[in-house]
Amino acid sequence: MEKIKMTTPLVEMDGDEMTRILWKLIKDELLLPFVDLKTEYYDLGLDYRNETNDQVTFDSAEATKKYGVAVKCATITPNAARMPEYNLKEMWKSPNGTIRAILDGTVFRAPIIVKGIEPYVKNWTKPITIARHAYGDVYKGVEMKIPAAGKAELVYTNEAGEETRETIHDFDGAGIIQGMHNLNGSIESFARSCFNFALDTKQDLWFATKDTISKKYDHTFKDIFQEIFDAEYKEKFDAAGIEYFYTLIDDAVARVMRSEGGYIWACKNYDGDVMSDMVATAFGSLSMMTSVLASPNGYYEYEAAHGTVQRHYYKHLKGEETSTNPIATIFAWSGALRKRGELDNLPELMAFADKLEKACINTIENGEMTGDLYLISTLENKKKLNTHDFIMAIRKTLESLM
Ligand code: NAP
Ligand code: MG
Repeated sequence: MEKIKMTTPLVEMDGDEMTRILWKLIKDELLLPFVDLKTEYYDLGLDYRNETNDQVTFDSAEATKKYGVAVKCATITPNAARMPEYNLKEMWKSPNGTIRAILDGTVFRAPIIVKGIEPYVKNWTKPITIARHAYGDVYKGVEMKIPAAGKAELVYTNEAGEETRETIHDFDGAGIIQGMHNLNGSIESFARSCFNFALDTKQDLWFATKDTISKKYDHTFKDIFQEIFDAEYKEKFDAAGIEYFYTLIDDAVARVMRSEGGYIWACKNYDGDVMSDMVATAFGSLSMMTSVLASPNGYYEYEAAHGTVQRHYYKHLKGEETSTNPIATIFAWSGALRKRGELDNLPELMAFADKLEKACINTIENGEMTGDLYLISTLENKKKLNTHDFIMAIRKTLESLM
């Protein structure tokens, strides 16, 4: 069989621990036998980040700007325990944070739905994709404890030195205050990323804030989304037969619960933090969740939503058997290959991405799965496979589809 051709390389960002083991298995067994794989390789494993003073992370993000599409393995975000473990020169920042700051993107997360893993909300028959704004609000908040009676004010001083004041509260006893901010530029990028992603995936876009209570702050989010939609996207949405829909956050939550899924839910930073955990849990498992960073300029970085599965890696190092779920990492590859195929007009590459995903789903629906799914699957004839055997089972299904 002739291998499927690629024209532009994918930016390949390798990672850490158990997902690094999965990464190699996936390439060797599910990609290289079928695709004439072209990648520009960046090793974001912690050792090499440390060796290059994290330069490799910056380089990989710049390469993503050059080529447009990247696929990333999960990586360690160092904490105190990692300093001696990897003999680190510094507690390097989260690669995801660095890459997101350079690409200025929004992260879209969606569950992978299979028979036998039933969502807790039984009417959710289609995936719900959460888009979380990743800048500002309470995450960049400044807080103060007010010890006793006194007046708290918001003060803005412009460059000419003129002040604008608002009283927050005249305290007659102890209390607390908080100042938060956002940037119109960041909200505009968020809006464009969401509108582009909706067009890309042909799904409706929902957005919600609390603009009735927050008449300036949240209302600005609502207005920016609406202005950009009307000026740049309305006609494209009409042509694609999809809808942009704004409502209040409490109304949105009620509608989401009653819905069948199949749309993108754009959330402010805090709402996205909370709601993405709710949606992921309700759909079953973090190991069945795709994640893509989409920039307003049309760059894409595909990854898994989970981390490096450290506990399994330590078992693996001790020579013990593991049963780690590779599905989200495989879908990162299929998502990136499909996007590459779309941009380079390579229908065979796009068809391969579809088949690879189908092979994953069929294998699980035929009852072969990893331990995490085995615990929650409602299938009657189910079998728990180890990491290697599960990937080989997917390969067998894939070969039958090719
Ligand atoms: P984690 O890697 O997501 O794993 C947490 C637990 O979830 C695992 O111990 C395992 O449960 C289960 N799990 C997650 N993915 C699984 C999979 N594919 N198959 C089977 N089970 C899976 O989170 P963590 O252990 O808190 O973090 C480990 C490292 O990952 C940290 O250094 C963190 O910085 C990094 N991290 C990276 C990213 C990223 O790069 N995107 C995201 C999050 C965390 P059981 O042990 O019960 O089997
Ligand atoms: Mg959270």
